[in-house]
Amino acid sequence: MSIPAFDFDNSYARELEGFYVPWKGAEVPAPRMIRFNHALADELGLDGKALDTDAGAAILAGHQAPEGAEPLAMAYAGHQFGGFSPQLGDGRALLLGEVIDRQGKRRDIHLKGSGRTPFSRGGDGKAVLGPVLREYIIGEAMHALGVPTTRALAAVATGEEVMRQDGPEPGAVLARVASSHLRVGTFQFFAARGETERLRQLADYAIARHYPDLAGQPDRYLGLLKAVRDRQAALIVKWMLIGFVHGVMNTDNMTISGETIDYGPCAFIDGYDPATVFSSIDQHGRYAYGNQPKIAQWNLARLAETLLDLINPDDSDDAVRQAGEVINGFPLSYERAWIAGMRTKLGLVRDEPGDMELAVGLLAVLETQNADFTRVFRSLSRAASGEVSETRPLFANPAGFDVWLPLWQARLAREDTPAEERIAAMNRVNPVYIPRNHMVEAALASATKGDLKPFERLVEVLADPFTEREGLEVFALGAPSDFGQYTTYCGT
Ligand code: AMP
Ligand code: MG
Repeated sequence: MSIPAFDFDNSYARELEGFYVPWKGAEVPAPRMIRFNHALADELGLDGKALDTDAGAAILAGHQAPEGAEPLAMAYAGHQFGGFSPQLGDGRALLLGEVIDRQGKRRDIHLKGSGRTPFSRGGDGKAVLGPVLREYIIGEAMHALGVPTTRALAAVATGEEVMRQDGPEPGAVLARVASSHLRVGTFQFFAARGETERLRQLADYAIARHYPDLAGQPDRYLGLLKAVRDRQAALIVKWMLIGFVHGVMNTDNMTISGETIDYGPCAFIDGYDPATVFSSIDQHGRYAYGNQPKIAQWNLARLAETLLDLINPDDSDDAVRQAGEVINGFPLSYERAWIAGMRTKLGLVRDEPGDMELAVGLLAVLETQNADFTRVFRSLSRAASGEVSETRPLFANPAGFDVWLPLWQARLAREDTPAEERIAAMNRVNPVYIPRNHMVEAALASATKGDLKPFERLVEVLADPFTEREGLEVFALGAPSDFGQYTTYCGT
């Protein structure tokens, strides 16, 4: 058996001393591979055969550091539900190291649940199997749905029992991959301490890593803010267009790269309702489905505040004005990306002024009927050709849909895409399979009892969400009525 080796190139450790604490994972009784993502390992140029072993499990559990690794816990702060915590940081995670993938892109390999660190505060530094597999399922599904996201490289059981609210649970570690772990909260950590030079170092690092076109430009810090704004606007649009609710959009859970990160109490909507909230701790609906764009803008304003001294060190009023303009531009950036995405979902290629009203009109109908968001949109490729037998039954009362349908059909008549082509294009953006809450819960319940088959099957189905396959009908349905109100927990 070959010894797992990584070709690390650790820029964060090398260039940002003082931004982290060098640290080691905790030893655990019996690291065992639960699921290894071979396709992703290949993409990263890793030796999947060597890693999908007990020796690999020991490394990806944080139990043993591989040759040449300089694992570290990153410092960050964050606004959590609107309140500022100056010191969060990796309290149960480590950056194992960075590798350059086959496309030449730098990727972080990060372990979540690898034990206590100096940032742990009262926490035990651990993660448990259910939430680890949940992040695996949803992160990989998001990737397949075309949403920028951190990825799951492996889920490893630790052989340890971890105490949680309802008693002991099997311990686990998620090895995840990100284009970086720079967060809005990373900037807030140094801004709160008034460390302007460190902020500059961090901003230049972020620019070099994610927005290299801005490197060396005199107005690069304003450029960084604008670039992050547009990436985040594009990201939130993607969430909205597939019905994803992140659930904890704290500033420490918002990346500079524009990838989705930290899958905790996230979930997908079935029936369309902008007020949908799943997280048990989000009692005021701060992070409700329909609030996500506003919250993203709020978080970006927190990022803007950290950059003011860099934007104009001599004139703070001018810095506030410039940064304010960028932040005020968020709704436009968001709206442009949203309507472009909606057009594709509706089979439209041309850009007409009435399209916004048309799209919003459909959502209004969905909302009054609490109709299944994913199923209605998927069925539209057939409805476009007049075949509405699939769509109409998705509404308890189809009267509103019947009013909307001819408006849309009249609009489609002004397009010249051949029907076949339009169906294919719509089916490429309107998924059949999303991580349905009841399916995810069933898979996790089985896994916690030792049966991984439903988890593996679900991961496999969700790897190809846009191609309808025979025999998978149950994966396309919403929750049965006895599933009831769905609540998710942060208890990771
Ligand atoms: P999260 O809810 O995963 O986004 O984490 C928010 C903050 O709480 C981060 O600083 C985490 O490192 C920390 N944290 C969450 N769970 C634990 C835990 N079990 N032990 C130590 N720190 C934790
Ligand atoms: Mg987090």
